[in-house]
Amino acid sequence: MIKTVKAFKPETVWMGRLEKGADIINSLEAFCAEKGIKAGWVNLLGALDRATISYYDQEKHQYFHRPLHGEYEIVSCGGNISLKDGKPFAHLHIVLSDAEYQAWGGHLWPGTVSVFAAEFSIFELKGETASDELSRCPDAATGLALW
Ligand code: ZN
Repeated sequence: MIKTVKAFKPETVWMGRLEKGADIINSLEAFCAEKGIKAGWVNLLGALDRATISYYDQEKHQYFHRPLHGEYEIVSCGGNISLKDGKPFAHLHIVLSDAEYQAWGGHLWPGTVSVFAAEFSIFELKGETASDELSRCPDAATGLALW
């Protein structure tokens, strides 16, 4: 059964790159706050030398973290922008590949990344009315902040 649905229309596609050393989530959330972006989806490619990927234990309702240090390609990084506590919140997952072409993936943890280079696209969405905002709230069944 579907729990939450809001209707959006495409607005603007923002494309840019992050500075060397930047954190992905913190940079994109700051950009969205600056531009007034409240909803959208994100796609990002590039390379990084530090990141923490996370795994959510569904029974313990707890994230477990795997810090990675070294040279990694960002094979894929995608997710969405919505509101949490009234501010833009980026929920991103990432797949990285190492020098052996092996992949690592998970939920991207904020404030843990140092990009080597990263190109992003943010597909900004607008609701039909102000009440069409998509906000995250605590969900008892999962322990997560969900729409
Ligand atoms: Zn996640």
